[in-house]
Amino acid sequence: MTKITHFNPEDKFHAFLKTCGDTEYTTGPLNGENIAIKDNISTKGIETTCGSRILTGYIPPYDAHVITLLKKAGAAIVGKTNMDEFGMGTTTENSAFGPTLNPSNPDHVPGGSSGGSAAAVAAGIVPFALGSDTGGSIRCPASFCGITGLKPSYGRVSRYGLIAYANSLEQIGPMAKDVKSVSRLMEIITEYDPRDPTMINKPYHCRCDGELNGISVGVPEEFFGKGVDPSVASVVWNAIKWFEGEGAEIITCRMPSVEYALAAYYVTCTCEASSNLARFDGVRYGPGASLKLSWHDSFSERRTEGFGTEVKRRIMLGTFALSSGYYGKYYAKAQIARENVKNDCMRIFKDVDLIIGPTMPVVAFKLGEISDPLQMYLTDILTVPANLAGLPAISIPCGKVDGLPVGLQIIGKPFEDERVVETAYCYEQGG
Ligand code: GLN
Repeated sequence: MTKITHFNPEDKFHAFLKTCGDTEYTTGPLNGENIAIKDNISTKGIETTCGSRILTGYIPPYDAHVITLLKKAGAAIVGKTNMDEFGMGTTTENSAFGPTLNPSNPDHVPGGSSGGSAAAVAAGIVPFALGSDTGGSIRCPASFCGITGLKPSYGRVSRYGLIAYANSLEQIGPMAKDVKSVSRLMEIITEYDPRDPTMINKPYHCRCDGELNGISVGVPEEFFGKGVDPSVASVVWNAIKWFEGEGAEIITCRMPSVEYALAAYYVTCTCEASSNLARFDGVRYGPGASLKLSWHDSFSERRTEGFGTEVKRRIMLGTFALSSGYYGKYYAKAQIARENVKNDCMRIFKDVDLIIGPTMPVVAFKLGEISDPLQMYLTDILTVPANLAGLPAISIPCGKVDGLPVGLQIIGKPFEDERVVETAYCYEQGG
């Protein structure tokens, strides 16, 4: 059975780059429920730009695997959401099409890079959205907008049809107002896809029955270190105390590699991005260029016009780090640091089931408040470890500071996404 839904929301917060108006859907478990999709996930017949001018006019001829699964489950795909260009950012201000505003307070950023998806859910426009998370892009906007967002374990969800930013780090994941909705989406989007060779075949099923089952929780001191706003820290500690009150064992621990995690992340992601983005020549899509120029000059003109400042910065950083003679100095070292983060996490997981802390060191800042790129990168400090180590991690709301939401981050062992979700569900019900 096929039905039509009419979707023309009042989009006060600029969550959407495009809405679909009439949408077809089939009968299935989601039965016509509306879902918004981040604009870097390929949707057949619907323009997909990654928030970049260089891809304007690109209409994918095929669906990403997750989109095929959602359609099969009866979801109504109602629009594409705003994002930092190619996922590069923490605020959604780096979109070529203007920023999204935070529904909690429109003077503030919604977080990024999946800020449009988070705002669409937070504003109540859609019950579900998909985002992608390379270094925090699902969890950061979930935290800033006061919703729930899960970055699945690396390999749990097919990346087929996700326009790549940094392949070794990123995953598509669900965003919604509550944990059960996130879990419902996980049941759908985790179906195996041999077209993503990094995917493992492990069907997802979480009971969401509210049983904490005597878990033990590690709290790394570094997650409450320099740069973490004391009022955010205190809200998160209250949540941790709730777990203690419910019989969870709380163990403070050390994760010294956090000091190098950001450097490892930013070298790795810029190297991968410089290679992934090399194919965008602006010939078929994008702003176009003067035909009078030589190939070299027109390629350069189109990319200069088509990419925003942050994307250019990262392409240059990545190209430099991979250039002849520098590989050992930057990329190889970043991989050693990445290994240290993984080893630290696995050592902690010998004693505990989960790692808990804040998602972001601060609440949503004001639009335009941070202009220094390095200062912006520093705000990713607590989200990148899970990407470097490939671990499942969720952000759920745990309180407010100055009227702005604070996110609690729960990180699990590899492929224990269900335990992460179950624990988040318990907190949501009782915390
Ligand atoms: N803020 C991080 C970055 O700019 C994370 C982005 C993401 O997860 N896509 O790289």
